[in-house]
Amino acid sequence: TYPVITIDGPSGAGKGTLSLLLAKQYGFHLLDSGAIYRLGALAAKLLDVNIDDESAVANICQYLDVEFEPTESGVAVILNGQDVSQSLRTEEIGMMASTIAAYPSVREALVERQRSFARNPGLIADGRDMGTTIFPNANAKIFLTAGAEDRAKRRYNQLMEAGCEADYSQILADIEQRDLNDAGRAVSPLAPADDALLIDSSTMGIDEVCQTVVSHLQS
Ligand code: C5P
Repeated sequence: TYPVITIDGPSGAGKGTLSLLLAKQYGFHLLDSGAIYRLGALAAKLLDVNIDDESAVANICQYLDVEFEPTESGVAVILNGQDVSQSLRTEEIGMMASTIAAYPSVREALVERQRSFARNPGLIADGRDMGTTIFPNANAKIFLTAGAEDRAKRRYNQLMEAGCEADYSQILADIEQRDLNDAGRAVSPLAPADDALLIDSSTMGIDEVCQTVVSHLQS
């Protein structure tokens, strides 16, 4: 088995940026598990499947035809041969992902797909339940959090930089709603693993967060 480092926490805490930095630093593979839930939501939308129909959505998730291709700036997500990286990042898809992520059969359908990312020479796994459910035996576990307003500000800036439309108060409301959904669901609710290192990034820059994690990994 190969080393696995899990990075869990709520939306917008900086997990994506941290994971990418760590993956580059160690030359490890990267699992963006949120993208997998977003893909399930997008695929359901494209197929016109009702998001309330748990078994239809779980079926779509089981058979997703998806590939992740490393690029300069991150990872391109290819669904049925199409690059859907941009369409995945919208708040609408994030919210739909949070809805389907509460379905036990959807989570079950995605377990093996996520575990299959653990490959030589190692993996950085970014998500909500990486350290608790998907990789309970991970070599190191980080739980990265920040206040809802700090996270909303970051999301807003990311969207603006990507040239997307963004409404700060809507983003904050969505983040608070997703926190409630993700922490309140019956299966794999958002919570740190017992053996995770907790980091609050509210007043830390990404470099400081990364330094803290690297020193932890070396200790
Ligand atoms: O991290 P991201 O915002 O892309 O995740 C989208 C949604 O997918 C989250 O709000 C959460 O409901 C769900 N998710 C999850 N478990 C994961 C990753 C994401 O439930 N490991």
